[in-house]
Order: sequence, then C-alpha cells, then structure tokens
Amino acid sequence: MKILVSDDVSEKGVELLRQHYDVDVKINLDEDALVACIGEYDGLVTRSMTHVTKRVIDAAVKLKVIGRAGVGVDSIDLKAATERGIIVVNAPTSNTIAATEHTVAMIMAITRHVPQAHNSLMSGEWDRSSFTGIQLQNKTMGIIGVGRIGSRIAKRMQAMEMKVIGYDPYIPEERFKQLGMESVDLDTLLQNSDYITMHTPLTKETRGMISADEIAKMKEGVRVINVSRGKVLDIFALAEALKSGHVAGAAVDVFPEEPLTKEKNPFLGMTNVVITPHLGASTIEAQIGVSVDVATSVIAALNG
Ligand code: NAD
Repeated sequence: MKILVSDDVSEKGVELLRQHYDVDVKINLDEDALVACIGEYDGLVTRSMTHVTKRVIDAAVKLKVIGRAGVGVDSIDLKAATERGIIVVNAPTSNTIAATEHTVAMIMAITRHVPQAHNSLMSGEWDRSSFTGIQLQNKTMGIIGVGRIGSRIAKRMQAMEMKVIGYDPYIPEERFKQLGMESVDLDTLLQNSDYITMHTPLTKETRGMISADEIAKMKEGVRVINVSRGKVLDIFALAEALKSGHVAGAAVDVFPEEPLTKEKNPFLGMTNVVITPHLGASTIEAQIGVSVDVATSVIAALNG
C-alpha cells in the first residue's frame, strides 16, 4: 500500500509508516497537484496546510484513510470523506500542552509588550516609557471553550492569581467546579473579562462567533487572544476595535486564510497586537507526538 505525506510532519511518524508501507513525502502541493496524484494512494497524512476538498476526495479512488497530524479536522471535507467510507483519524492530545503554552506566551507578550520593546531596543532605542504594562493578578480571564486547552489555560491563569470564568455549554457544571472557575453565559463573559481567550473547535456554531457585535459588548480596554481557529474570530472587526482603542491589545496565532498574506493582514503597522504564523503546535515534543500518534492510527485503520 502507498501513503502520501503532504505536509511537513516529523520524521518519527514517517519512519513508522515506512516500516509498513511505501511512503512519498510531497509538500506544498496545490489542489490541482494533489488531485493529479492522489489516485495512487491508500492513505494520506496531512497537517493544517493541506486542504482535503471534495475534489481531492473524488479523485482519491483508492484512499481508505486520512490522518491529520494535529487536532483540527476542519481542513478536511468530512462529509465527502464519510460518503466515500474514508476513515479520518487525528492526533487530538499530543499538541495540547504546546498550544496551551503558546497561549500563555501570547498573553504575557501582550501584557508586557515584550515583542515591541525588543524591536525598539534592537533598533538602537532605549525607550522605557512606551512599554508600561499591566498586571494579571486580580484581573478576570474569560475562556471560551473549556476543553483540553481551555481547562489548562484556566489552571495556569489561576496560578497567576487571576479570576477565571468560562463559557462552554457542552461541559457539565461539575467540571467548572473541579476547575475552580465560574461558568457563565457568553454575554456575561464578554462584559466582565479583562482578557478573553478562545479555545473552541471550528464548527457551524463557532464560525464568526466573535465578530463586531460581540467585540462591542466587551469591556473597554479588554485584551483578546485567539490560538484556536482563524474563522472563530473576525480579525477585521478586531483590527477596527484595536484602532479605536476599545480593545487594548490582541494576540492572534490563527487566521481565516492561511498563510496570511500582506494584503489580507489587517494588523500591518499596528503596535498593540502580536501575531504569530500558526505556531501553537510548533514544539519539538508536540510535532514528534502528533506524527507518531497519527501514524499509529493510520496503521491501525489500514490493518482493519
Ligand atoms: P477540545 O475539543 O478539547 O475543547 C474544545 C471545547 O470547546 C470543548 O469543551 C467544547 O465543548 C467547547 N465548545 C464547542 N463548541 C462551543 C461553543 N459553541 N461555545 C463554547 N464552547 C464550545 O479541543 P482542544 O484540544 O482544547 O482545542 C481547542 C482549539 O484549539 C481547536 O480549535 C483546535 O483546533 C485548536 N488548536 C490550535 C492549535 C494551534 O496551533 N494554534 C494547536 C492545537 C489546537
């Protein structure tokens, strides 16, 4: 059997696949190139860059399994895959800590202006007055989506002596109690948080969940963080609110279209925002973990 690895996946998982199958690694294929070659493969392994569209699935006549080295399967047309009986597997847990810690890094960066101060000093300035921050202690962190990552953010922010509240209609009240956090509705969270961080999957419900109307309900001077999925947050509405000062700071790792181009980047030239190119899962440990986990699941699926 033949497997195509179409994104940059850690070698450990690729080696594991090679012990069982012929494996080709072809990175940066566009949809046409993927459609042209996918017909010869029994398995496909991707990260977030490959979009497995209906067109790709229609051309994938032998395909039995799609492995997503990571958690979000929104890059795969699940309906088309299911109709064809193609199994979709992911590696949901191996990058939880990486994404959690990146979120913490982003929160700290926008709280103390670390990247801006670094750039200033690197350009030869000694400016101590432009980068006064705030303290996390006694502020309120609002977490939207209290799953694997959201619950870990809660613990870490409690360690910073923040009050932590959360909105997640799919987890029981008991879980909020265990986490020592208050369960609130979305409007209450928007109106009462000094920081708002999003950790939901991208679904019909969460697409555009935080747009101009929700931003308008947020506290003056709020800070907003998104390390979940780009389409959950309207970055154009966020940029407007950053310009007006309603939102004091923002940190964004994920974008509605990736890669984010200069033309579609509403934050260019802005100083109260920190952006990273989808680095949430980019640690050595997470990349090895997701590649081995997804390879194991692909092998299990192909072996029936
Ligand atoms: P998870 O499934 O463990 O948790 C998601 C939580 O969101 C669940 O508790 C669910 O009940 C809740 N939720 C679903 N719909 C909701 C809604 N409408 N309103 C409020 N809550 C809702 O997922 P996770 O592993 O914690 O991942 C969270 C997000 O982070 C996902 O979108 C994932 O793709 C993303 N992620 C990003 C990176 C990155 O590189 N930036 C890395 C890992 C994960």
